[in-house]
Amino acid sequence: MAHTERVAIVTGASRGIGRAIASRLAVSGFAVVVNYAGSTVDTEGVVRAIHAAGGCAQVVQADVSSAGDMRRLFDEAEQAFGGVDVLVNNAGVMTPEPLAEAGEEQFEVNVGGTLNGLREAARRLRDNGRIVNFSSTTLALNAPGHGIYNATKGAVEGFTRVLAKELGVRGVTVNAVAPGPVGTELFLNGKSEAEVGRMAGMAPLGRIGDPREIAEVMAFLASPEAVWVNGQVVRVNGGIG
Ligand code: NDP
Repeated sequence: MAHTERVAIVTGASRGIGRAIASRLAVSGFAVVVNYAGSTVDTEGVVRAIHAAGGCAQVVQADVSSAGDMRRLFDEAEQAFGGVDVLVNNAGVMTPEPLAEAGEEQFEVNVGGTLNGLREAARRLRDNGRIVNFSSTTLALNAPGHGIYNATKGAVEGFTRVLAKELGVRGVTVNAVAPGPVGTELFLNGKSEAEVGRMAGMAPLGRIGDPREIAEVMAFLASPEAVWVNGQVVRVNGGIG
Protein backbone atom coordinates (compact mmCIF):
# COMPACT_ATOMS: atom_id res chain seq x y z
CA MET A 1 0.00 0.00 0.00
CA ALA A 2 1.32 3.49 -0.83
CA HIS A 3 1.47 5.92 2.08
CA THR A 4 1.99 9.66 1.84
CA GLU A 5 2.03 10.56 5.54
CA ARG A 6 5.24 11.09 7.47
CA VAL A 7 6.26 8.15 9.63
CA ALA A 8 7.95 8.24 13.06
CA ILE A 9 9.45 5.46 15.15
CA VAL A 10 9.43 6.22 18.89
CA THR A 11 11.47 3.75 20.93
CA GLY A 12 10.46 3.03 24.52
CA ALA A 13 6.93 4.38 24.14
CA SER A 14 5.04 2.09 26.53
CA ARG A 15 5.02 4.80 29.19
CA GLY A 16 6.62 8.02 30.37
CA ILE A 17 8.17 10.47 27.94
CA GLY A 18 8.05 8.07 24.96
CA ARG A 19 4.32 7.55 25.40
CA ALA A 20 3.72 11.33 25.47
CA ILE A 21 5.86 11.77 22.34
CA ALA A 22 4.07 9.01 20.42
CA SER A 23 0.70 10.57 21.22
CA ARG A 24 1.89 14.09 20.35
CA LEU A 25 3.45 13.08 17.02
CA ALA A 26 0.20 11.32 16.10
CA VAL A 27 -1.62 14.63 16.72
CA SER A 28 0.86 16.25 14.30
CA GLY A 29 -0.26 13.73 11.68
CA PHE A 30 2.58 11.21 11.86
CA ALA A 31 1.94 7.52 11.48
CA VAL A 32 3.69 6.36 14.65
CA VAL A 33 5.49 3.09 15.30
CA VAL A 34 5.18 2.60 19.06
CA ASN A 35 8.07 0.49 20.32
CA TYR A 36 8.55 -1.21 23.68
CA ALA A 37 10.62 -4.02 25.18
CA GLY A 38 8.40 -5.91 27.64
CA SER A 39 5.29 -3.91 28.57
CA THR A 40 2.85 -5.36 26.03
CA VAL A 41 -0.39 -4.41 27.77
CA ASP A 42 0.63 -0.81 28.43
CA THR A 43 1.82 -0.33 24.84
CA GLU A 44 -1.37 -1.71 23.36
CA GLY A 45 -3.15 0.90 25.51
CA VAL A 46 -0.99 3.66 23.97
CA VAL A 47 -1.94 2.59 20.46
CA ARG A 48 -5.62 2.26 21.36
CA ALA A 49 -5.58 5.82 22.75
CA ILE A 50 -3.94 7.15 19.57
CA HIS A 51 -6.52 5.35 17.41
CA ALA A 52 -9.37 6.65 19.59
CA ALA A 53 -8.08 10.20 19.00
CA GLY A 54 -8.14 9.61 15.23
CA GLY A 55 -4.39 8.98 14.83
CA CYS A 56 -2.44 6.24 13.10
CA ALA A 57 -0.14 3.92 15.09
CA GLN A 58 1.22 0.41 15.25
CA VAL A 59 2.98 -1.49 18.03
CA VAL A 60 6.33 -3.16 17.37
CA GLN A 61 8.08 -5.03 20.20
CA ALA A 62 11.88 -4.84 19.94
CA ASP A 63 14.75 -4.71 22.41
CA VAL A 64 16.75 -1.71 21.21
CA SER A 65 19.97 -3.15 22.62
CA SER A 66 19.76 -5.94 20.00
CA ALA A 67 20.96 -4.89 16.53
CA GLY A 68 18.76 -7.61 15.01
CA ASP A 69 15.67 -6.37 16.83
CA MET A 70 16.37 -2.80 15.69
CA ARG A 71 16.65 -3.98 12.05
CA ARG A 72 13.32 -5.76 12.43
CA LEU A 73 11.77 -2.63 13.98
CA PHE A 74 12.68 -0.66 10.84
CA ASP A 75 11.61 -3.59 8.58
CA GLU A 76 8.17 -3.69 10.21
CA ALA A 77 7.81 0.11 10.08
CA GLU A 78 8.63 0.10 6.37
CA GLN A 79 6.25 -2.77 5.70
CA ALA A 80 3.43 -1.04 7.59
CA PHE A 81 3.86 2.52 6.35
CA GLY A 82 6.21 2.46 3.33
CA GLY A 83 9.24 4.21 4.92
CA VAL A 84 10.51 6.06 7.96
CA ASP A 85 11.05 9.84 8.30
CA VAL A 86 11.71 10.31 12.02
CA LEU A 87 13.52 8.26 14.65
CA VAL A 88 13.05 9.24 18.30
CA ASN A 89 15.72 7.30 20.21
CA ASN A 90 13.93 7.62 23.55
CA ALA A 91 14.28 4.15 25.16
CA GLY A 92 16.56 4.36 28.15
CA VAL A 93 17.26 3.06 31.63
CA MET A 94 18.72 4.71 34.72
CA THR A 95 20.16 2.68 37.58
CA PRO A 96 21.77 4.87 40.22
CA GLU A 97 24.76 2.87 41.51
CA PRO A 98 28.30 3.61 42.66
CA LEU A 99 30.89 3.10 39.92
CA ALA A 100 32.45 0.34 42.03
CA GLU A 101 29.28 -1.73 41.56
CA ALA A 102 28.41 -0.75 38.00
CA GLY A 103 26.69 -3.27 35.73
CA GLU A 104 26.33 -3.33 31.94
CA GLU A 105 22.62 -2.65 31.30
CA GLN A 106 22.81 1.13 31.10
CA PHE A 107 25.53 0.90 28.43
CA GLU A 108 23.67 -1.78 26.51
CA VAL A 109 20.38 0.13 26.33
CA ASN A 110 21.40 3.82 26.41
CA VAL A 111 24.54 3.59 24.24
CA GLY A 112 24.09 0.30 22.37
CA GLY A 113 20.38 0.92 21.79
CA THR A 114 20.92 4.47 20.57
CA LEU A 115 23.75 3.35 18.27
CA ASN A 116 21.64 0.52 16.84
CA GLY A 117 18.90 3.03 16.06
CA LEU A 118 21.32 5.53 14.53
CA ARG A 119 22.91 2.88 12.30
CA GLU A 120 19.56 1.85 10.85
CA ALA A 121 18.33 5.44 10.58
CA ALA A 122 21.53 6.60 8.84
CA ARG A 123 20.98 4.00 6.13
CA ARG A 124 17.20 3.95 5.91
CA LEU A 125 15.61 7.26 6.89
CA ARG A 126 14.04 9.04 3.94
CA ASP A 127 15.67 12.31 2.78
CA ASN A 128 14.85 15.36 4.95
CA GLY A 129 14.22 13.10 7.94
CA ARG A 130 14.74 13.88 11.62
CA ILE A 131 16.61 12.00 14.34
CA VAL A 132 16.27 12.99 17.99
CA ASN A 133 18.31 11.26 20.71
CA PHE A 134 18.00 11.43 24.50
CA SER A 135 20.62 12.94 26.75
CA SER A 136 19.91 14.20 30.28
CA THR A 137 20.44 17.23 32.50
CA THR A 138 22.08 14.84 35.02
CA LEU A 139 25.19 15.24 32.85
CA ALA A 140 25.55 18.79 34.22
CA LEU A 141 24.90 17.86 37.85
CA ASN A 142 27.59 15.18 38.45
CA ALA A 143 25.68 13.58 41.33
CA PRO A 144 27.15 10.47 43.00
CA GLY A 145 25.64 7.27 41.59
CA HIS A 146 25.17 8.72 38.10
CA GLY A 147 28.64 7.95 36.72
CA ILE A 148 27.56 5.27 34.25
CA TYR A 149 24.27 6.96 33.33
CA ASN A 150 26.08 10.25 32.66
CA ALA A 151 28.74 8.45 30.62
CA THR A 152 26.01 6.88 28.47
CA LYS A 153 24.39 10.26 27.87
CA GLY A 154 27.78 11.82 27.08
CA ALA A 155 28.18 9.15 24.40
CA VAL A 156 24.73 10.00 23.03
CA GLU A 157 25.69 13.68 22.74
CA GLY A 158 28.88 12.65 20.90
CA PHE A 159 26.91 10.53 18.41
CA THR A 160 24.52 13.43 17.86
CA ARG A 161 27.09 16.04 16.85
CA VAL A 162 28.99 13.76 14.48
CA LEU A 163 26.01 12.13 12.79
CA ALA A 164 24.52 15.58 12.10
CA LYS A 165 27.59 16.26 9.95
CA GLU A 166 27.40 12.89 8.21
CA LEU A 167 23.71 13.09 7.25
CA GLY A 168 23.29 16.78 6.40
CA VAL A 169 23.90 16.05 2.73
CA ARG A 170 20.51 14.28 2.63
CA GLY A 171 18.70 17.03 4.55
CA VAL A 172 18.46 14.82 7.65
CA THR A 173 18.97 16.65 10.97
CA VAL A 174 20.24 15.00 14.16
CA ASN A 175 19.62 16.54 17.57
CA ALA A 176 19.25 15.47 21.19
CA VAL A 177 17.01 16.64 23.97
CA ALA A 178 18.31 16.70 27.54
CA PRO A 179 15.37 16.80 29.95
CA GLY A 180 15.66 17.67 33.61
CA PRO A 181 13.67 15.62 36.14
CA VAL A 182 10.36 14.49 34.62
CA GLY A 183 7.62 12.68 36.54
CA THR A 184 8.05 9.17 35.11
CA GLU A 185 8.89 5.75 36.55
CA LEU A 186 12.53 6.22 35.57
CA PHE A 187 12.84 9.32 37.75
CA LEU A 188 10.37 8.57 40.55
CA ASN A 189 11.22 4.90 41.25
CA GLY A 190 13.06 4.49 44.54
CA LYS A 191 12.88 8.18 45.51
CA SER A 192 11.20 9.46 48.66
CA GLU A 193 8.77 12.36 48.48
CA ALA A 194 11.43 14.49 50.18
CA GLU A 195 14.01 13.63 47.48
CA VAL A 196 11.56 14.48 44.70
CA GLY A 197 10.75 17.74 46.50
CA ARG A 198 14.46 18.57 46.77
CA MET A 199 14.94 18.07 43.02
CA ALA A 200 11.83 20.12 42.29
CA GLY A 201 13.27 22.89 44.46
CA MET A 202 16.38 23.06 42.24
CA ALA A 203 14.28 24.28 39.31
CA PRO A 204 13.51 28.01 39.07
CA LEU A 205 9.91 27.00 38.42
CA GLY A 206 9.88 24.93 41.63
CA ARG A 207 8.57 21.67 40.18
CA ILE A 208 9.58 18.67 38.08
CA GLY A 209 8.64 18.40 34.41
CA ASP A 210 5.68 16.73 32.76
CA PRO A 211 6.27 14.27 29.86
CA ARG A 212 4.01 16.40 27.66
CA GLU A 213 6.44 19.31 28.02
CA ILE A 214 9.18 17.20 26.44
CA ALA A 215 6.75 16.00 23.76
CA GLU A 216 6.00 19.57 22.66
CA VAL A 217 9.69 20.22 22.00
CA MET A 218 9.87 16.91 20.15
CA ALA A 219 6.93 17.87 17.96
CA PHE A 220 8.92 20.91 16.84
CA LEU A 221 12.24 19.08 16.35
CA ALA A 222 10.46 16.42 14.26
CA SER A 223 8.82 19.02 12.03
CA PRO A 224 10.07 20.36 8.66
CA GLU A 225 10.20 23.85 10.27
CA ALA A 226 13.02 22.71 12.62
CA VAL A 227 15.45 22.24 9.72
CA TRP A 228 17.91 24.88 10.93
CA VAL A 229 18.30 23.25 14.37
CA ASN A 230 20.98 20.64 13.76
CA GLY A 231 23.67 18.91 15.82
CA GLN A 232 22.30 20.50 19.01
CA VAL A 233 21.51 19.31 22.50
CA VAL A 234 18.31 21.06 23.55
CA ARG A 235 18.07 21.28 27.34
CA VAL A 236 14.42 21.04 28.35
CA ASN A 237 14.60 21.30 32.10
CA GLY A 238 12.78 24.34 33.47
CA GLY A 239 16.12 26.00 34.16
CA ILE A 240 17.87 23.34 36.32
CA GLY A 241 21.60 23.05 35.67
P1 NDP B 1 10.49 5.25 31.67
O1 NDP B 1 11.22 4.32 32.58
O2 NDP B 1 9.22 5.86 32.14
O3 NDP B 1 10.20 4.54 30.26
C1 NDP B 1 11.25 3.87 29.63
C2 NDP B 1 10.77 3.29 28.32
O4 NDP B 1 11.89 2.68 27.67
C3 NDP B 1 9.71 2.23 28.49
O5 NDP B 1 8.77 2.36 27.45
C4 NDP B 1 10.48 0.93 28.32
O6 NDP B 1 9.69 -0.11 27.72
C5 NDP B 1 11.52 1.36 27.32
N1 NDP B 1 12.71 0.49 27.29
C6 NDP B 1 13.57 0.23 28.29
N2 NDP B 1 14.51 -0.63 27.87
C7 NDP B 1 14.22 -0.90 26.57
C8 NDP B 1 14.82 -1.72 25.58
N3 NDP B 1 15.93 -2.44 25.83
N4 NDP B 1 14.26 -1.76 24.35
C9 NDP B 1 13.13 -1.04 24.07
N5 NDP B 1 12.52 -0.26 24.97
C10 NDP B 1 13.07 -0.19 26.21
O7 NDP B 1 11.57 6.39 31.26
P2 NDP B 1 11.40 7.93 30.84
O8 NDP B 1 10.20 8.11 30.01
O9 NDP B 1 11.59 8.75 32.03
O10 NDP B 1 12.73 8.12 29.96
C11 NDP B 1 12.75 8.25 28.56
C12 NDP B 1 14.10 8.81 28.14
O11 NDP B 1 14.29 10.09 28.75
C13 NDP B 1 15.29 7.96 28.59
O12 NDP B 1 16.27 7.94 27.57
C14 NDP B 1 15.83 8.70 29.80
O13 NDP B 1 17.20 8.45 30.02
C15 NDP B 1 15.56 10.13 29.38
N6 NDP B 1 15.49 11.08 30.50
C16 NDP B 1 14.50 10.98 31.45
C17 NDP B 1 14.44 11.88 32.48
C18 NDP B 1 13.43 11.81 33.57
O14 NDP B 1 13.54 12.54 34.56
N7 NDP B 1 12.39 10.98 33.46
C19 NDP B 1 15.40 13.01 32.58
C20 NDP B 1 16.38 13.01 31.51
C21 NDP B 1 16.40 12.09 30.52
P3 NDP B 1 9.22 -1.41 28.55
O15 NDP B 1 8.24 -0.88 29.56
O16 NDP B 1 8.58 -2.30 27.55
O17 NDP B 1 10.47 -1.96 29.18
